[in-house]
Amino acid sequence: MRTQKMRTQKSIVLVTVDCLRADHVGFMGYERPTSPFLDSLASESFVVPTAIVAGAPTYYSFPAILASRYPLALGRDVLGLGPDEPTLASVLRQAGYATASFGAANPYISSRFGYEHGFDTFRDFLGDEPSPLSDEKANAANSNGWASRLNRKLQKNRPALGPLGMVYDELYFEYCQRVTPVPDSLDALRRFPSADVIVDHTCTWLSSIGDAPFFLWLHLMDPHSPYYPKDAALTLMGQGPVTTYRARYLNSWWNRSDLGLRRVAHHRDEIVGLYDAGIRWVDTQMARLTETLRGAKRWDDCIFAFTADHGEEFLDHGGRYHPPSRLMEELIRVPLLLRVPGSEKRDVGKSPFSMVHLAPTLLHAAQLPVPADFQGRSHWEQLRRGGSFDGVAISECVAGCTNPFRWENRMGPRVLSVRESRYKLVLHFDPPAENLYDLEADPGEQAPLASEVQKPVRRRLLEIAREHLRRSSEQRDSRTRVQTCLRELRLEWKKPGDKASPVAS
Ligand SMILES: [Zn+2]
Repeated sequence: MRTQKMRTQKSIVLVTVDCLRADHVGFMGYERPTSPFLDSLASESFVVPTAIVAGAPTYYSFPAILASRYPLALGRDVLGLGPDEPTLASVLRQAGYATASFGAANPYISSRFGYEHGFDTFRDFLGDEPSPLSDEKANAANSNGWASRLNRKLQKNRPALGPLGMVYDELYFEYCQRVTPVPDSLDALRRFPSADVIVDHTCTWLSSIGDAPFFLWLHLMDPHSPYYPKDAALTLMGQGPVTTYRARYLNSWWNRSDLGLRRVAHHRDEIVGLYDAGIRWVDTQMARLTETLRGAKRWDDCIFAFTADHGEEFLDHGGRYHPPSRLMEELIRVPLLLRVPGSEKRDVGKSPFSMVHLAPTLLHAAQLPVPADFQGRSHWEQLRRGGSFDGVAISECVAGCTNPFRWENRMGPRVLSVRESRYKLVLHFDPPAENLYDLEADPGEQAPLASEVQKPVRRRLLEIAREHLRRSSEQRDSRTRVQTCLRELRLEWKKPGDKASPVAS
């Protein structure tokens, strides 16, 4: 039974926002008003200027955030959390905390991948059979089905059609947009519960737990594609109403795979406007959540961590969305705001803070022991005292794995980046390539340094990468690996008529 004494312990609220890149919030310097409430909170919080995820996208990021473990540490073929793996939630539940998670229907952090572990209440707003976000059906729906067979045939023969071909597919695209019925509101087009729905459920749960210290994890999808923000958020951003027809048109355009970059870029700014409005809605709901916590007299003993699982590409390097491919800054750098009551705000140095350190840092700030199994370590002392930390952040993913539900999709070549304050090395394993960037001279990572330049730096970062890979294979937790594989096999066996996926050695 939870006693009154427990109330003296600090509660923890962890908010993760899908696809939120660091440079699109005000407290990280963005000029548009995406986050006025969070900006006001930043004046009493630690703001980490260079928080780097341990992997991207979602399924390569969360093992580090919740379990302080590198995403490929159990093997490329193993996804999600182990059934007995210590996580923030399991540690806090064991310490007597009430634990709850409310996630806006992201299948990759569902119970199918072990994310319910440690939570008393776990709501992922998914059906019984979650399906991948990037499957063909979803893409077809997003692109509004415009690429019909006839059109594809004409596409193939477009060179022979000359300029007429381009005119044809523009007309055909417009035609498909016009003949497909448009719903009344953006709400009907949105694929995920919006932040207000998640916060509603959260507030109801908070009112049910009495005085117990609690751990709350919210995962919000408002900035995730397809970009259909709330009307109210567009108004707050000064963008006025956007018709459902226009919003769908823009999303369909942005999703087109048949266009060259120059033509895709035609609607880039409008797409970014929709994305930014998604962030603004998150901000309004964070204000509402903290208001509720204040009203319940829980805010003053509550550690609040606000961050993201990865960023989003808007043609920075020619890409869209957030595929696992190149680990560029727009994908791996995220906002991280940490409010710890009773601690004076200090400036945080610019050296990278890997998200593998977040869970131990939060536990330490709440004066709780950190499990020995965690691969990260607490940076709480350095934050609290305003010191700098050594700051090397490793990120990893499997190139091209856009549907991790398919086992064979997970077995592509690894991509790994090692980021220091100034230099960043990105290693591709197949075909082999190593690109070294000087982020001071080239923050946009537009041109890797020539191979004969900065050889000692290159050697040092390569050595860090090699050591990471060596540890990954030599210190592999084979028990957790086997348990996680078995969970997946059981899920496969449950599906009638389906063959079990193989398990790599
Ligand atoms: Zn994500």
